Amino acid sequence: MPKVYIGNRLTQEALDVITPYAEVNMWQKENPPTREELLRNVADIEALLIWGLAKVDSALMDAAPKLKVIANMSVGYDNIDVEAASKRGIIVSNTPILADTTADFTFALILTFARRIVETANLTLRGGWKKWSPLDMPLLGWEVHHKTLGIIGLGRIGTAVAKRARGFSMKVIYYDIIRKPGEAELGVEYIPDTPTLLGMSDFVTLHVPLDSSTRHLIGAKELSLMKPTGILINASRGGVVDQKALYEALKRKQIRGAAIDVTEVEPIPPDDPLLTLDNILITPHIGGATREIRVKMSIVTAESLVAALKGEPVPNCVNYHLLGKNESS
Ligand code: NAD
Repeated sequence: MPKVYIGNRLTQEALDVITPYAEVNMWQKENPPTREELLRNVADIEALLIWGLAKVDSALMDAAPKLKVIANMSVGYDNIDVEAASKRGIIVSNTPILADTTADFTFALILTFARRIVETANLTLRGGWKKWSPLDMPLLGWEVHHKTLGIIGLGRIGTAVAKRARGFSMKVIYYDIIRKPGEAELGVEYIPDTPTLLGMSDFVTLHVPLDSSTRHLIGAKELSLMKPTGILINASRGGVVDQKALYEALKRKQIRGAAIDVTEVEPIPPDDPLLTLDNILITPHIGGATREIRVKMSIVTAESLVAALKGEPVPNCVNYHLLGKNESS
């Protein structure tokens, strides 16, 4: 049987998909394997199942000469050198099934920041709820409904965010490198450049993949174009925002604030200056972290892996075009 290395603990449902077809070596510890541990375990594997944050580069692929498939349990696959994999004939798959899950969370970030839910809940817990008066409340928030939401990247998640924004009577504008069909039905307006979108938006939310075109897409210049009352939301990848520039902008109160689920280094180091600010909300990359979707993602990942080992068309393969194959082959 072909050998599979699984770089994280997997659900039983997913293991049940894999074990009839492959011999499994699964990482059992809570923290992910280190680079050295990964390298040690891939020498004779044909399949690798990995989370979206583990780096899979050409050196790792060279250490695994029999590798046929990298099944990534994440929709973003910026952790994998897809070009290097394709050159070696290795199939790469992802899990593009968490748009609603991540969109729900993006809206949670918007509402939590704007209505100051974390600060007020903590204040209450600390016994700080001393009075109630309409204007003297210690932590007044800001409206969400009828505000303008600027979406950068109107793909699966951006579209699901736009649908939710309609329920909040928001004006929704978007920028994407590809103008999307169905704007009227979705209730979105296309803005042909990011500077204009940044200047118009009360909330700017990022839903692009991390690649060479989106790294530091939001830097000092872009932040300076946002409204002083603007709020930046990032549930895509940390590298899409220049974090040093974000720190400076927030420290100077150049924008109202930011709510981010992802950081350039994850987990965020405890001495990161962003953690000293009072106008930022940071969550630990949990945009797709519900029990239900994790089980589904694990099964979808396992199914892609098994299909590749069986030589069948691979659901959610991201590099067929680079391998010179097509999905029906
Ligand atoms: P998608 O591929 O469906 O959509 C991405 C959109 O971005 C596309 O419409 C694409 O045309 C657009 N785009 C690409 N480059 C661009 C650029 N330079 N400028 C403007 N637009 C550009 O992807 P998706 O499923 O919506 O996911 C988006 C990203 O969200 C993923 O790649 C992943 O990194 C991230 N994500 C994060 C979490 C989390 O837990 N926080 C969960 C799921 C996904």
